[in-house]
Amino acid sequence: MPNNDHADYIGRGRYVLSFHPYSYMNHSCNPNIVVKHESIAKSNFIALRDIKKGEELTHDYGIGAMDQFGKTLWVIDCKCESKNCRKKIPGDFFKQPKEIQRIYYKYLPSAIKRKYKDKFNKLMTRRK
Ligand SMILES: [Zn+2]
Repeated sequence: MPNNDHADYIGRGRYVLSFHPYSYMNHSCNPNIVVKHESIAKSNFIALRDIKKGEELTHDYGIGAMDQFGKTLWVIDCKCESKNCRKKIPGDFFKQPKEIQRIYYKYLPSAIKRKYKDKFNKLMTRRK
């Protein structure tokens, strides 16, 4: 396997290779991209601000991690050096700060919005 390929472990000694551009992007707490998954086959990359030519594309790893059997499967020690760096990024959307969840809610897949409707209703109506 070439060094730049990504692989996800799926159990029983098997891996899935990922060639999706999403898997090549690093995390940032001040990302310039959000990835909106429309379906398994279609994802939209949405710029969150102006991106300079040659600037690295980054997204927030904590946003895409959801529905992992009710568990937080990973936590990353972030060293992105942005002003708003959260330092520890749990792999669970609902463990991100509420203001972060509110910002990214609109980019979530509609199936996820439906599944966690009650949680999202609380999130979007309470301001604490
Ligand atoms: Zn960070």
